[in-house]
Amino acid sequence: MFEGLRWIEHGVLAVSGGALVYFGYFLKREARLDLERLGALFFILAGAFGSISNLVDLVFHGTPGYLVSEVGQEIFTITTAAAILLLISATFGLNAKRLLAQRAQALETAQAAAVTDVVTGIYNHRAFQKQLEDEVTRSRRYNRSLSLLMIDLDHFKTLNDAYGHPVGDAILREVSELLKKGLRTIDLPARYGGEEFSIILPETSLEGAQVVAERLRNSVLYHLFNLPGGHRAFISISVGIANLPIDARDKDGLIEMADKALYFAKQNGRNRVSLHGELLKAHLVKNQGSLEAVLRDSKLSVIRNIGLAIDAKTPFTFGHTDQVVRLAMNFAKFLKLDPPEVESLRIASLLHNIGLMNAPDNVLNKPGPLTMEERKIIQAHPTLAEMLLKDAPRLDGVLPAILYHHERWDGNGYPKGLHGEDIPFLARVLAIAEAYHAMISTRPYRRRLTDDEAIEELNQCAGKQFDPQLVRSFVQVLNKEGDSA
Ligand code: GH3
Ligand code: MG
Ligand code: MG
Repeated sequence: MFEGLRWIEHGVLAVSGGALVYFGYFLKREARLDLERLGALFFILAGAFGSISNLVDLVFHGTPGYLVSEVGQEIFTITTAAAILLLISATFGLNAKRLLAQRAQALETAQAAAVTDVVTGIYNHRAFQKQLEDEVTRSRRYNRSLSLLMIDLDHFKTLNDAYGHPVGDAILREVSELLKKGLRTIDLPARYGGEEFSIILPETSLEGAQVVAERLRNSVLYHLFNLPGGHRAFISISVGIANLPIDARDKDGLIEMADKALYFAKQNGRNRVSLHGELLKAHLVKNQGSLEAVLRDSKLSVIRNIGLAIDAKTPFTFGHTDQVVRLAMNFAKFLKLDPPEVESLRIASLLHNIGLMNAPDNVLNKPGPLTMEERKIIQAHPTLAEMLLKDAPRLDGVLPAILYHHERWDGNGYPKGLHGEDIPFLARVLAIAEAYHAMISTRPYRRRLTDDEAIEELNQCAGKQFDPQLVRSFVQVLNKEGDSA
């Protein structure tokens, strides 16, 4: 039935196209307008196709090429063309517009029914969404854990640019084979988009998902891809993991969280597996309970441990966190901040570098200047800190201070490029305390400044990097400290 319709449609297109082509030829040859014939043709064709724009559409998009090449042969005359057209129209009650609409509909249905991706043969995006919906429903009903992996090939654009898209597609196929090999039969791998894969892991805890993800990462990392022309390549993948019910409660939330974790993995140097949410937080506090519990600890001793753990990652700033807290607290006293603000500043000072926790050591401790890529990793730390802490209770005043402590008074800072007093007050305070301590510490790339040199530097940067009024206050705090010491 469908084939029959298609045949008719082609017939209509051929005839209409042929008629028009012939007509053009006819005009050219005769070099005169035969209004009667022109009118007849126009009338018949326009009538058959419902509207002129449809007609034009059909002729330009549908006329088979061979008719054009046979123009000279005069295979159609207007009358035969029109007659055939009329015959077909009459016989099948044909409406080309409807026919095309039917075809579009059929195509859409066929696409909707297709569940596999043509390049890799695994589930496509649409099928993935449907499967995940089902699995989420099932997991919630039976109270089971469900994990989702989002995978993105690292630096794939470079490979594509070097070898071309067909080679890129071959690699995508091979990667999908490797993924399938590394999974259980109940796991559901899919091509999420361009060079992104997603894998649904039913009945799988975060820890379990992490094991699977590491296995997949390694299987791709150590696979030698043989490319056409005798080229060979190694590639790596980054993986984000999210879990239901830990990180999200529904399908979209789960995708979003896995995506964020993937972003985190990319930001932290690629070729890594990153978890979203609780487990990551739990890792940070070294199994001392969830962050929520930590933040209820009024003595803040556990948060202090986080600070120490951050310092431990960066030996050159050993004691940095404690010192920044001390400086910030003295500053707060001088500024006569109210108790909730003092508390927020204290926590922010303790946690301001938490986003560096996962940055590669070789970047943190690099003696030379950073590459653009490395700078991006470092500059991501306020945003990462926000990601980590945003769901924690009692951090309302703390988060802005951390997120914006690398903004500059002149608007050239990060992550937002905020200006002057648009930068939250506590962030401006913290920026000065942290910068001062950084100046008086030895860094891999420079010697430490003396206290006086550091004060000089702060004054130099007042109004550019720092809030000028706050710099004046801070210098007074330092001088008082110096007096009493
Ligand atoms: P990153 O490590 O940040 O993921 O770098 P990247 O180059 O992989 O990332 P980006 O998202 O900038 O680029 C993705 C590239 O993947 C763009 C395109 O060259 C390639 N790509 C996307 N879809 C396809 C596809 O279907 N086939 C092929 N061959 N390449 C694709
Ligand atoms: Mg991508
Ligand atoms: Mg990529």
